Amino acid sequence: MKKPTRVNHPPPVDLPPDNRAVVSPIYQTVKFEFDTLAETERFFRGERPGFFYTRASNPTTRQLELLLAELQGREECLVTSSGVGAISQTLLALTKQGDHILCFVETYNPTRYLIRRLLGRFGVTHTMLSIEDLAGAERALAAHPTRLVIFESPTNPVTKIADITALTRLAKAAGALTVMDNTFAGFHQHGEYDVDVFVHSLTKYASGAGDVMGGAVIGRSDLIRNLRNDFGALGGMLDPHAAFLILRGLKTYFVRYQAQSASAMKIAELLAAHPAVARVHYPGLPTHPQHALARAQMRDFGTIVSFDMKAGADAGGKFADALKLFALAASLGSTESLVVAPQMMGGRDLTADQHKLSGVTEGTVRLSIGLEDIDDLVEDVKQALEVAQ
Ligand SMILES: *Cc1c(COP(=O)(O)O)cnc(C)c1O
Repeated sequence: MKKPTRVNHPPPVDLPPDNRAVVSPIYQTVKFEFDTLAETERFFRGERPGFFYTRASNPTTRQLELLLAELQGREECLVTSSGVGAISQTLLALTKQGDHILCFVETYNPTRYLIRRLLGRFGVTHTMLSIEDLAGAERALAAHPTRLVIFESPTNPVTKIADITALTRLAKAAGALTVMDNTFAGFHQHGEYDVDVFVHSLTKYASGAGDVMGGAVIGRSDLIRNLRNDFGALGGMLDPHAAFLILRGLKTYFVRYQAQSASAMKIAELLAAHPAVARVHYPGLPTHPQHALARAQMRDFGTIVSFDMKAGADAGGKFADALKLFALAASLGSTESLVVAPQMMGGRDLTADQHKLSGVTEGTVRLSIGLEDIDDLVEDVKQALEVAQ
């Protein structure tokens, strides 16, 4: 074999079957081959397992799918290149012209955009209510045959809690599928509820490091199997290297989520006792209007604390600027703390009435609590409140 040939066909290294890597290797390859055409054809006919092309599946992304399905307590999972990719492909795969979607004003901004603007162009209609309006949800489901109900809990940024039992029961009675964006609550929560499809951004708690993007769709195998072909054609699959980074991040998921939630509770208590703060939104606080529901549904209340500055947007902006340990940045669930100032909040697509329903005020600030020492975070929040006052 001449050397230009050799560099394209390097010497194979095969591990003996009883000799395994402790950390699974990254299958950083697009293509897989079988020994013969006959075996390749058997694979195409579904008569044997294997991998062929990474857009369809890859051992590293598959390992992440199997792990996430188990964490969320479902049979199957598909991973995608971002959380929004998981949501957009799920919506496209589950709806057709003439279908109706029930969604909520507290829904993640890009999800609202997808439903209103993108699916709207394809003749999919929607009703948008407040997540607290169960009577309205019942009326909307009675008024329109509905394909799916999509919701979140806790919601972004003011951590309203969806009544999952009530919503899934209403949807099921109306013959609608439920899609729950479970990014805020995480993979270890809400699995016991009768939700058909969970979607997640892996960009947040899964990796924890804030250095990689990904998304996941998790549900019963019959549902996810149907989605797999559409997802392959839409082409937004996760890259194996990103899957490896996310698998690595997941090893510390539970300790991070619990430690960051414990710190979030302390920050929420500090804010609640401060005279510059009108209202704190954290489901773990007994003063949260849905604290009892949150306690019933959740084991950990999460790492997002938002609050309303009494003095409005200027004070909120001053507070955010004065923080030293919190990056003025989007996203959440990473090991470093983050702040979103009122001036950075979305929601410009909402009408005045819808904006009011959303619970976001002029002075709403969102904190994502990281893994820094809690004493340092407390000091930082205290000094920033003094500056803002
Ligand atoms: C961040 C986020 C998404 C989108 O995830 P990306 O990975 O950024 O595309 C979807 N839903 C919620 C609730 C999020 O917080």
